[in-house]
Amino acid sequence: MVFALLLANLFVWLALAGTSQNELMVDFFDVGQGDAAFVRLPQGTQMLIDGGPGQAVLEKLGKAMPFYDREIDWVILSHPDRDHVNGLFAVLKNYRIKNIVWSGMPGEAAEGKEWINDVAKEGANVILAAPGEKFDLGSDPSCFFEVLAPAAAIPSGSGNNDLSVVVRLAYGARKFLFTGDIAAKEGQALENIYPGLAADVLKVAHHGSKYGTDGAFLSALAPAAAVISVGQGNSYGHPSPEVLEILSGYGIKTLRTDQNGDILFRTDGERLFVRTQQ
Ligand SMILES: [Zn+2]
Repeated sequence: MVFALLLANLFVWLALAGTSQNELMVDFFDVGQGDAAFVRLPQGTQMLIDGGPGQAVLEKLGKAMPFYDREIDWVILSHPDRDHVNGLFAVLKNYRIKNIVWSGMPGEAAEGKEWINDVAKEGANVILAAPGEKFDLGSDPSCFFEVLAPAAAIPSGSGNNDLSVVVRLAYGARKFLFTGDIAAKEGQALENIYPGLAADVLKVAHHGSKYGTDGAFLSALAPAAAVISVGQGNSYGHPSPEVLEILSGYGIKTLRTDQNGDILFRTDGERLFVRTQQ
């Protein structure tokens, strides 16, 4: 009986751990008010973009990764605000990280200093995000990510949000854009710097704040789907009704972690599927 249960558990683990050979999966974790997206690439490479506001990311990773796997290939920090970095403190304690990508700009808050200390202790290969840099992911040349921001040409304020690392992940013909907490003016600047910038799936900037997204950026980007990573009943009023209206006006399928739970995209480089927890 016990053996049968163990065996059943193992199959569940294998089913959860297994990606089909040629699929990329992007899991927007429901971590409350914050961002955390876990990417599993063909051939098994793993990448975590932000860690959310607390420990919730550990439970999510525990379900998404095989129990014996204690290593993550890439961690990208968009910016060291607590709703993005706090979960990464826990991840760095619990997993061995091979590569860490961040802006190198810690900002004024205590989290930035803690992040610098923890990164130094981790012993990972640290990459300071430089716009235009491209990183191959495995042997398939159609699978890579590129750093788009922070770019010198972006009119930045002094805040951490404006200096968010923006990355675009590509697999075959499909592209995912992770915008951190940039403001709409930085979205417009991205379109100027990278004419023709497009994405199939957009992680909506700044949890759907009305300052993060405008129609010009959305119409240029023309995503099929948008994800808002946001906590239920948050005190910021995210996402803003204006942004929801703009998204629906452009006919963009919009999913929200506060309503849909974890949001999982799968693609073979052509076809794109989504499955939500709720
Ligand atoms: Zn944020």
